[in-house]
Amino acid sequence: MELEKAILRRVGQAVARFGMIREGDRIAVGFSGGKDSFTLLSALLALQKRAPVRFSLCAFTIDQGKFLAPVEPFREWMRGQGVDWTYRVDNPSLRLLGRQPDHGCDLCSRFRRRAVYALARELGANVIALGHTADDLCESFLRNAMFTGRLAALPPVAWSRKREFRLIRPLIYVTEDLTRAWAEGSGAPVIPCGCSLKTGTVRRSVRGMLEELEKEHPHLKSTLLNALGNVEASRLLDRRLFQPEEEGQSASAGSLPVLHDPAFMEL
Ligand code: SF4
Repeated sequence: MELEKAILRRVGQAVARFGMIREGDRIAVGFSGGKDSFTLLSALLALQKRAPVRFSLCAFTIDQGKFLAPVEPFREWMRGQGVDWTYRVDNPSLRLLGRQPDHGCDLCSRFRRRAVYALARELGANVIALGHTADDLCESFLRNAMFTGRLAALPPVAWSRKREFRLIRPLIYVTEDLTRAWAEGSGAPVIPCGCSLKTGTVRRSVRGMLEELEKEHPHLKSTLLNALGNVEASRLLDRRLFQPEEEGQSASAGSLPVLHDPAFMEL
């Protein structure tokens, strides 16, 4: 119960701070069958009961040929939750997998995006909810800074091209130790994706580095998340944002609460 409350509080914070959900939205939840997507869908179902705005939910799964077991258990779980779930095999992705088994994430994501938009259109959704977590945000921030030369993570809210869909990430404050504990505790029938076994990628290296550092600094992800919401532009080198500080002035907002601070959790 405490775990569920902690997750819901964080989802509520993300939804409220970034104006993710609006009156009358029809939200299609991207359901990959992993621990994060089970948590996302369950949290949104719980939020739907208590939110001050009315919105409807449905879920969908795009099968790109990467599941390590049949997805039938999802159907039973969705029925139990009363969720309208659509499962779609994406044939172009299967053909890609046949032609280039080692295709990278860029190509895979491009195929998935096309299939997701087509299905969301069919489902009459105006919002697509994605299950990226606080861990994904931190990893993408470090990956971009170290390997692509940009200070950027993942947008909490974005628009598809032509503004057809609003893309929201309600789990941005939820760490994967919480989603893992929730999925295990609730008996959700998680089915891993073949990619979870991949090694030697940049993504894996960054994840391993974070895990190693967290052994000594357990609040590392909370601090990184706080940093992402506490930018001191005048101490970076982007001339588009640069404004010289006055002497003696510190842009530091030392009193800003961090995510592991209980006071923050009450917001
Ligand atoms: S990790 Fe696997 S499923 Fe995810 S984008 Fe990369 S190739 Fe596709």
